[in-house]
Amino acid sequence: MIIKDISQLIGNTPLIDLQIDVPKHSHIYAKLEMFNPGGSIKDRMGQYMIEDAIKRGKIKAGTTVIEPTAGNTGIGIALATQQRHLPTILVVPEKFSYEKQTLMKALGARLINTPSELGIKGAMAKARELEKQIPNSYVPMQFENPANPGAYYHTLAPEIVSDLGDSIDAFVAGAGSGGTFAGIAKYLQEHNPQIKSVVVEPEGSILNGGPAHAHRTEGIGVEFIPPFFKGVQIDSVLTIPDKEAFEQVRKMAKTQGLFIGSSSGAALAASLKVAKELPENSTIVTVFPDSSERYLSENIYDSEQKNQTEEVK
Ligand code: PMP
Repeated sequence: MIIKDISQLIGNTPLIDLQIDVPKHSHIYAKLEMFNPGGSIKDRMGQYMIEDAIKRGKIKAGTTVIEPTAGNTGIGIALATQQRHLPTILVVPEKFSYEKQTLMKALGARLINTPSELGIKGAMAKARELEKQIPNSYVPMQFENPANPGAYYHTLAPEIVSDLGDSIDAFVAGAGSGGTFAGIAKYLQEHNPQIKSVVVEPEGSILNGGPAHAHRTEGIGVEFIPPFFKGVQIDSVLTIPDKEAFEQVRKMAKTQGLFIGSSSGAALAASLKVAKELPENSTIVTVFPDSSERYLSENIYDSEQKNQTEEVK
C-alpha cells in the first residue's frame, strides 16, 4: 500500500471480535482506534474539526489554533494543523501523560500547562484567555463543537454498521467530551431504535451522581454533563473503578496480545457487565480509543499502583 500522506491512514480501523469469555455466549466487538496514525480515535476528530472550521471560514491562512485537551485531541489537531501550516497552541492540565505531551510537541505544537487541580475547566478558561490575546486565533473547543460528535457520526459509526449491519444489541463507550459516545450512539440509534446505549465513566466522574475526584483511568470522566448528550438516548451509565479497568488492560495484553489504554479497559469491563444483563448470544460493540504505550511512564501494567489515585493532583 503506497500512501502520500499520513492523513490517508485515519479511520477504517479494524473491529475485533474478542476471543474472550463473555457472559451468556455473547460477543464483544471492539473498534481498535489505536491504529490511527496519531495513535488514537482523536485523529478522526482533529481532522474533521479543522476541515469544518476551514469550510466555515473560522480558520484562514496563518490562524493560530488553540485547544484545551487531555492529549489525544491535541495530537489529532496537531496532525491536521501541521499539514496546513497553522500555528498551534495546546493547553493541557499538567497531570496528563508524558508520552502524549511529548508527541504534541514533536508535531510542532506549543504546549501550555495548566494546574491539574483546575481540571479541564482550567484549561478551557486558559484557551479562551489566549484567544482574546492572540489576533487571528481560533479555538475549535471540542467540548461544545458539533463537529466533535460529527466526526464519529460520519466516519466511525458507518464503519461499524458496514461491518455488523443491524445485528448490534448494545453500544458501550466511555465519555470525556462525550463526542465519541454521542456521535456513534446517534447514528446507531437511527439505524436501530432498539439498541441499548451505555456510557462508561470512571469513579470520580459525576454522571452517576458520585463525588468528583481524581482517578487513574485517563481520557474519560466528566466534570460537567456533555452538551452533546442532548437528544441522544442513554440507557445506562456504568461507573467503573480504576482497579477493574486496569485489570482488563493487563488481561488484554497477556491473553490477546492487545495493548489497550485504561479508557479501553473501562469500556471492556463495562461491556462484560452489559453482557450479563442482555439475552444469550447478544452482540455488543465498544471502542478502544488508544494504546497502553501512551501510558508506560505511568506504569500502566503495574498492579501495585492502586493508590496512585490519591497521589494524582
Ligand atoms: N479515551 C481516551 C484515551 C481519550 O483520550 C478520550 C478523549 N479525551 C476518550 C476516551 C473520550 O472520548 P470523548 O472525548 O469523545 O468522550
